[in-house]
Amino acid sequence: MLSHRPSNVDAVNEKPLVAPNDEPARAGGSPAPLRGSLSPSRAGDFMNCPLLYRLRVIDRIPEKPSREAVRGTVVHQVLEDLFDLPAQARTLEQAQTMLPEAWQKVQQDEPELAGSLFPEPADVQDWLNSALPLLATYFTLEDPSRLEPAERELHVEVTLDDGLVLRGLVDRLDKTSSGDMRIVDYKTGKAPGAGYEQKALFQLRFYALVIWKSTGVMPRLLQLLYLGSGHVIRYEPDEVDLESTERKIRALWSAINAAHESGDWRPNRSRLCDWCDFQRFCPEFGGTPPELQLTENTTI
Ligand code: SF4
Repeated sequence: MLSHRPSNVDAVNEKPLVAPNDEPARAGGSPAPLRGSLSPSRAGDFMNCPLLYRLRVIDRIPEKPSREAVRGTVVHQVLEDLFDLPAQARTLEQAQTMLPEAWQKVQQDEPELAGSLFPEPADVQDWLNSALPLLATYFTLEDPSRLEPAERELHVEVTLDDGLVLRGLVDRLDKTSSGDMRIVDYKTGKAPGAGYEQKALFQLRFYALVIWKSTGVMPRLLQLLYLGSGHVIRYEPDEVDLESTERKIRALWSAINAAHESGDWRPNRSRLCDWCDFQRFCPEFGGTPPELQLTENTTI
């Protein structure tokens, strides 16, 4: 299924992992199998740290937004809105003047954002200004006046035969007149170092798999644009590649179910911990995770 969805800071929310209401808790108190959905970001959470996944997806503990993450959302909003303009109006100067309006749009979805991010309202302008170089870098990577995207902020979704729903939000989908598709994703950070490109491409392979399975057409090109460093990663997927991605996703879902069955959502300390908002719940930092609230209707 392909459809549009408004962009916001937390655009690709997972549905709760819910066991069907007519499936009772199993003998011995072991939880019913999970039914749920995966997006690339939530799959990435589990790969990085099972406890992070649990706290974010199952416990659903609210996280404080960071200025960097919200700036990324604002830049994405500008790049989405830019293509509403006539081609000749898609200039860097125009894009930069669109930042305040994009920030207003992002706040419409989360009105409390400004207060939580900026106790000192005077800081907003400096923060918005810090997005100017990102837009300038974008214009060194491609010329939007020469592009007519087929889709922007496209919600993609497919249900696998075992009931697992795969979903995601594609920043941009380009199509040639012959029907070839290119998936484009904007990153406001820097490109990964050598050897980490494949990990970075997992997200776009995931999207390509969903589009292939839901439409029967395999995207021809995957493209990551890094506005923080001015790099582009391009990749042409093939059938073997996407079948392998599907196996990886299924294995990941099995591992999530195994963690659910055993209750073993172990933390995995890494440099990502520096940005983790859950340190107070994490044994690696002297914290204790909250007790899992398991019921037979499993809103775990
Ligand atoms: S602090 Fe690190 S180890 Fe702990 S939950 Fe967060 S990412 Fe995982």
